[in-house]
Amino acid sequence: MKDKLFKNILPKVSKPARYTGNEINIIKKDWDKAQIKMVFAFPDVYEVGMSHVGSKILYGLINEKTNHIMERTFAPWPDMEKVMREDDIPLYSLESYKPICQFDVIGFSLQYELSITNVLNMLNLGDVPIFNTQRGEEHPIVIAGGPVVFNPEPFADFFDAFLIGDGEELLPDFLDELYQNKQLSRYDKLIKLSQVEGVYVPSLYSVEYNTDGTINSFKPNIESVPTTVRKRIVKNFDESYFPDKPIVPYMEVVHDRAVLEVMRGCHRACRFCHAGTVYRPVREKGLNTLKEQAQNQLCNTGFDEISLSSLSTLDYSRVDKLVKDLIEQYGDKGIGVSLPSLRVDAFSIELANEVQKVRKTTLTLALEAGTQRLRNVINKNVNEDDLFKAVEAAFKSGWLSLKFYFMLGLPTETEEDLNGILILIDKIRAIGKEHAKKNIEIRASLSNFVPKAHTPFQWHLQDSMEEIEAKKKYLKSKKRKNVKLSFSDSRTSYLEGVFSRGDRQIARVIHSAWQKGCKFDGWSEYFKFEPWLESFKEHYIDPNFYTVRKRSYEEITPWDFIDIGVSEKYLQIENEKAIQEAQTPNCRDVGCVGCGICPSFEVEMEIEEEGKNAAESRI
Ligand code: SF4
Repeated sequence: MKDKLFKNILPKVSKPARYTGNEINIIKKDWDKAQIKMVFAFPDVYEVGMSHVGSKILYGLINEKTNHIMERTFAPWPDMEKVMREDDIPLYSLESYKPICQFDVIGFSLQYELSITNVLNMLNLGDVPIFNTQRGEEHPIVIAGGPVVFNPEPFADFFDAFLIGDGEELLPDFLDELYQNKQLSRYDKLIKLSQVEGVYVPSLYSVEYNTDGTINSFKPNIESVPTTVRKRIVKNFDESYFPDKPIVPYMEVVHDRAVLEVMRGCHRACRFCHAGTVYRPVREKGLNTLKEQAQNQLCNTGFDEISLSSLSTLDYSRVDKLVKDLIEQYGDKGIGVSLPSLRVDAFSIELANEVQKVRKTTLTLALEAGTQRLRNVINKNVNEDDLFKAVEAAFKSGWLSLKFYFMLGLPTETEEDLNGILILIDKIRAIGKEHAKKNIEIRASLSNFVPKAHTPFQWHLQDSMEEIEAKKKYLKSKKRKNVKLSFSDSRTSYLEGVFSRGDRQIARVIHSAWQKGCKFDGWSEYFKFEPWLESFKEHYIDPNFYTVRKRSYEEITPWDFIDIGVSEKYLQIENEKAIQEAQTPNCRDVGCVGCGICPSFEVEMEIEEEGKNAAESRI
């Protein structure tokens, strides 16, 4: 197959380096000596998948620390898929070039709901049946993990098991358990696997519905299967595995750099944020660990940039010291440090100045809403004074291009909140005119709010596509000169809304849409909405049932049985406070506000004493 691939296939496709493997730091283990052979499948193109930090961690961990094998495969771009289908080349792994159907486990990473049609396409290209009920003893076990699987139900029919929570904690246990029970039938193996904490085997549960379409009951079919599935977390994050020798691709990928995951989780409690609840509690890495990880990655890769990654990097308690030390150690070797989007305060600008001393590119700030009232509703603790001071400091320091993130369709949003976005931009422009040395560029990116499972807004309705379009039209009609507004597609947000809070009935629709040619739905050039609408109709499913419908606290949600450790009571209280426009302070500043995660997992919010003092002095 390798010969055919290199001689006949790759010369016909764009960017062949996506499909060759053999990159620097690739790990090729002895196939015959491996206990369990797993292929890690990323349902997007190579450049996107190779930029994902979680994949790098699991790849190194399984290959270096266990007796199992993990190889990789990615969604082939449509030109490659066409040639593969014409020449009868099955989807294969980049390490051994073996078809994915020869592995014991195919593990998908679900980072975004709309990548599901790529999952179906990849299974089909790999000669693996799409529905779990069609798979027999000879087929791999198909699993999924990632943020999307905290509500796995819309995808339940396609997977044999879901892994809920931190993969580095759960996946080795899952593979060990599978190996211990390799001699059992597929069904008995799945029962054994369902008893590993964090593993959900959907075929072992039944759902009954009420006549109005809501869920009446959800329970396991047999006694030994748990009624709730509790997520797994890495408790000692500082000592958790992180790869010293990540793979270096032969082509440009989205994030082409060394990465330091400085902390996991977030304590800020923004009420719209899915990651903010499902990845709790906050766990930090020590300064020395991070510096050592930077050193190792740089030595083994030749990268010229280190990115500090987490949900809220500037909340890492030692961030100023870490940035200073990294710049001191590597700055004169031409190695830069990069920060993701910034908090709205002067400290943030100071740090941004530090990392971009020479050439200032674009500064990105997340405001989310245009008025203080709406920011209180979503618990985004940003006030305008801080914002204007930060913006003034940025212009004075030489930044000329500023980008702001907002959301459209947040609960309780009114015309005044939309006007608030424009008024804020006007004020920022005025500050720019006064303090910037040259012409400034202001961009506002407006995404559509999608209520997510396990958040305080999980009971809220989502704006319809028509409402979102009307809001866009309104903002465009009032748009100012020299301000660029960019909007997300209301159709993809609508579908995302269906999947985010959907149930098992949705799987039929996904399958039909894929049969009608839907794939790469997250890519605007490939997204087709009509086949989706036809598929909903075909199966008599009203997508509005999942999006523009308000839920009561009593309703059984499809994700009720997933225990993330944050209590439902806390989510309800936060939702009530949102309606009253009341804020909840972050627990690192004021002490525990009772989300429940720390007692539930018997952890304490860790923060180094020295770092704590540094963080406190910035408050
Ligand atoms: S349990 Fe308390 S201290 Fe722990 S994360 Fe939740 S609010 Fe913060």
